[in-house]
Amino acid sequence: QAATFANGSPRKTLVVLGTGWGSVSLLKHLDTSLYNVIVVSPRNYFLFTPLLPSTPVGTVELKSIVEPVRSITRSSPGEVHYYEAEAKDIDPVAKTVRIKSATKDHDYELDLNYDYLVVGVGAQPTTFGIPGVFENASFLKEIPDAQDIRTKIMNNIEKAATLSANDPERKRLLSFVVVGGGPTGVEFAAELQDYVDQDLSKWIPEISKEIKVTLVEALPNILNMFDKSLWQYAQDLFAMEKIDVKLKTMVKNVNSTTITAQCGDATEDIPYGLLVWATGNAPREVSKNLMAKLEQQNSRRGLLINDKMQLLGAEDSIWAIGDCTFFPGLFPTAQVAHQEAEYLTETLKQQYKIDQLKWEISKTTNATETSKLHSKLDRIVKQQKPFKYNHQGTLAYIGSEQAIADVAVGESKYQMAGSFTFLFWKSAYLGMCLSFRNRILVAMDWAKVYFLGRDSSV
Ligand code: FAD
Ligand code: NAD
Repeated sequence: QAATFANGSPRKTLVVLGTGWGSVSLLKHLDTSLYNVIVVSPRNYFLFTPLLPSTPVGTVELKSIVEPVRSITRSSPGEVHYYEAEAKDIDPVAKTVRIKSATKDHDYELDLNYDYLVVGVGAQPTTFGIPGVFENASFLKEIPDAQDIRTKIMNNIEKAATLSANDPERKRLLSFVVVGGGPTGVEFAAELQDYVDQDLSKWIPEISKEIKVTLVEALPNILNMFDKSLWQYAQDLFAMEKIDVKLKTMVKNVNSTTITAQCGDATEDIPYGLLVWATGNAPREVSKNLMAKLEQQNSRRGLLINDKMQLLGAEDSIWAIGDCTFFPGLFPTAQVAHQEAEYLTETLKQQYKIDQLKWEISKTTNATETSKLHSKLDRIVKQQKPFKYNHQGTLAYIGSEQAIADVAVGESKYQMAGSFTFLFWKSAYLGMCLSFRNRILVAMDWAKVYFLGRDSSV
């Protein structure tokens, strides 16, 4: 893309960090011919996270929920340059980003200059510094996590099958523990129990009967963001499905075979063969480095932004969206990241107009013309409205082909639960898929599981 526009004005460089819900939604909507657009992300694909909990047990295939970055950038109106790299350090004064290659056997580090920067690097799983979690637990955030969980499930089953029925090691290997009763933990525990009941029970009935799924939650109930009637429904269903839900139980320590949890005054040791840790988000290193450079960034929860998505302390050149940010009342969800990206698309369109007017003003010598341009500029600046989040509801799969939904229609809220809600959940997620290709693949995966069951190999 030429460095200047036809009128001679410079084309500003927009660097976008990340290829998740925020950044990809922005790239899909933005007129990329307005900027020199550079995307930096260690992941050369978009991942449809809402269906990630379905992948370790094979309800949905991983390939069905990813979309290559190239197919997204290729359909943009302007040229987009992509680096498969990680942003290591952002210098908000010099306006540079240091990036480090993430491509195998291709090491490089370089500094990219930017006029404008969009930070959409997401977050990493939090462990609250609990000893042993990083070393021993699996997380459920990215594709390699889902693959790791699947391998562990299959290995444990095969190992357990070689041990005698009364061997305590067999019991430990078949103890599958999920920590965190938020939607990630609940959806994964539900998928796991489905797999045991619907598929393993046919192929290896003796082992399937011994598998124990446990969900550990520190608070008095699971799924806190849902209405009481819905989390109660989910807890009742889990009890019926024999998922052991341990409430008011906070994990304090983890070693390679056992978690130690506090429940009131009592301490409980829970042996595990598989431990999936889903206790929420923490900022990434690159976000922490940036926070350390700006006095205004004094939150531990994420990058502080204003209601225009501008980063506090670097309002003129950096916007931040999605899970890497913290703004009261906005939760780290795909829905929020997507709406923020839509808002930012409009902002960047306005910013282009502002830059064009500023350039025209700098070239104009006629006082009347200059004054007209200034009033036009003022009008555009005043048009910029703050971001307003429109919450449409929250959905979660809870197993046995049932789902719960807290739907918001205007000011009113509606709660739904059961099998019909599961169909609603399915159609909503199909609708949310990024591409037609994803939609078809996911629908085919569901059909395959319905008719043929899930696969039981690694
Ligand atoms: P992400 O989507 O996480 O994207 C971050 C991007 O930044 C990635 O491409 C990553 O590779 C890249 N990156 C990381 N580090 C760097 C770096 N140093 N430099 C450059 N790039 C970097 N929300 C819902 O609303 N509904 C759901 O049903 C739902 N289900 C979920 C299920 C699971 C299992 C999980 C984990 C989350 C779910 N969420 C859901 C939450 C939702 O996925 C997040 O809120 C959303 O992904 C946030 O978008 P984001 O763009 O901020 O971050
Ligand atoms: P979360 O923050 O929603 O829930 C984490 C849970 O872990 C909390 O209930 C917390 O009390 C519990 N916990 C924390 N420390 C613990 C400990 N030591 N021992 C036992 N329990 C402990 O995290 P999440 O489920 O990973 O979700 C992250 C974000 O992604 C949330 O904003 C969520 O809304 C979003 N998400 C949404 C969906 C959906 O809409 N269906 C699905 C997945 C994730």
